[in-house]
Amino acid sequence: MPNLKNSLKSLLLIFNLVLVDSILNAQELVKTNNPAEWSQDYQPFRIAGNLYYVGTYDLACYLITTPNGNILINTGAQDSGPMIRAHIEALGFKFSDIKILLATHAHFDHVGAMADIQKMTGARIMINEEDAQVLADGGNSDYVMGGKGPMFKPVKADCLFHEKDTVNFGGMQIIVLHHPGHTKGANSFLFNVKDEHRVYRVLIANMPSILDETKLSGMPGYPNVGKDYAYTLNAMKDLKFDLWLSSHASQFGLHEKHKPDDHYRPEQFIDQKGYDAELADLQKEYLEKLTEK
Ligand SMILES: [Zn+2]
Repeated sequence: MPNLKNSLKSLLLIFNLVLVDSILNAQELVKTNNPAEWSQDYQPFRIAGNLYYVGTYDLACYLITTPNGNILINTGAQDSGPMIRAHIEALGFKFSDIKILLATHAHFDHVGAMADIQKMTGARIMINEEDAQVLADGGNSDYVMGGKGPMFKPVKADCLFHEKDTVNFGGMQIIVLHHPGHTKGANSFLFNVKDEHRVYRVLIANMPSILDETKLSGMPGYPNVGKDYAYTLNAMKDLKFDLWLSSHASQFGLHEKHKPDDHYRPEQFIDQKGYDAELADLQKEYLEKLTEK
């Protein structure tokens, strides 16, 4: 009997160790209310030159291919990883060729699958220094949504951007424009792609939308939020580009401009007017919110 007792004891010990281990590894994520369009599928396509749309129906993710490996901008929500992978492979590229991961801002709908994708590809994560902490704690330190625990799998960045840095990789020069407000480290990306006909200047804009809970007079975790929104709205007014894209498909009207199975036509996304109108709307929203107590 003592033998059985001992082995029972050690079995219990192992069970406890496994239990503790799984508790430590479990990512208890704060439940979020995600619109259906975020996880709805959308056929990936070539936008212009070496730039492709690989996101979900509304969570825009962009693949830039280069001879040295590929760059993925935004990773969607926690459950978007497998869909993004399937899209990249459907276009004929290797998922493991992703070498750099970028994001327009560290919210759970754009960096949700970043930890998983980094684990699978070994890619380097590059993020604005002002969003690095939020990325590293799964959004818990976000000035609006934080404080309830991680909303996405925390992950550490490998490289930090400062105002107006450039990512030089595989012949691409991607200018990183710091557009703070929506998050402290939100940024837009400006770069050229070319096809056999011409060069296109592409803007992937982080449109400065304001969450309902934001107080422009200052938040405890972000006293300068109002000032930063004003800066960003102003800075974005002067941007010149050919093709306009952004963090959400709905923001730049992807589904009005493009249908699945459309032929390659980068001109679909030439829309300075649409961009100016959207920015004017956001400016109005900002001014209305300024008077809010
Ligand atoms: Zn956001």
